[in-house]
Amino acid sequence: MGHYCVNCGAPLVLKVFEGRELEACPNDDFVLWRDPKVSASIVVAAPGGIVVGRRAIEPGYGLWCLPGGFVNDDESPADAVVRECLEEIGARVEVDGLLDVYHAGRTTAPSLVVIAYRGRLAKGEKLSAGDEMLEVGVYPISELPELAFPSHRQALAKYAALRAEAASPPSPAQATSTRSRTQ
Ligand SMILES: [Zn+2]
Repeated sequence: MGHYCVNCGAPLVLKVFEGRELEACPNDDFVLWRDPKVSASIVVAAPGGIVVGRRAIEPGYGLWCLPGGFVNDDESPADAVVRECLEEIGARVEVDGLLDVYHAGRTTAPSLVVIAYRGRLAKGEKLSAGDEMLEVGVYPISELPELAFPSHRQALAKYAALRAEAASPPSPAQATSTRSRTQ
């Protein structure tokens, strides 16, 4: 409460929009919408496993996470995740595709829409911890340290499941159903 209009400076008043009570300007059309912030993260494959960093900032100081961060207004989420990798793990990455999109609900700050990608370390790149990381490590999927954020754990689980699926040949049942569909 106690916010002011960004257009005219008037104290905002409560108004109802689509069943939600929001702070709005009494003079013009400014509404203080409660929107989520957009962040992007990436599961980066590197020789020896997956790249993770140990955080040198809050939230989650000292805990491990995937590289990633907030998407700026003037960049695409995929560009943002490449930039964040340069800043956090000191290396260029190639984005291979989208893993999934997650909603991380928060009450003391705007909730997050987390866009999770999969990718790889670009050829010849070496890792080095940026200012926001205490250290950067590469671990096989089965030996990764616990990650700080649920959306990162979900993205990693999805990545592991996709890899396992790609590595196993189709079962006889799947092969049969594929054949019957094409007849
Ligand atoms: Zn106003």
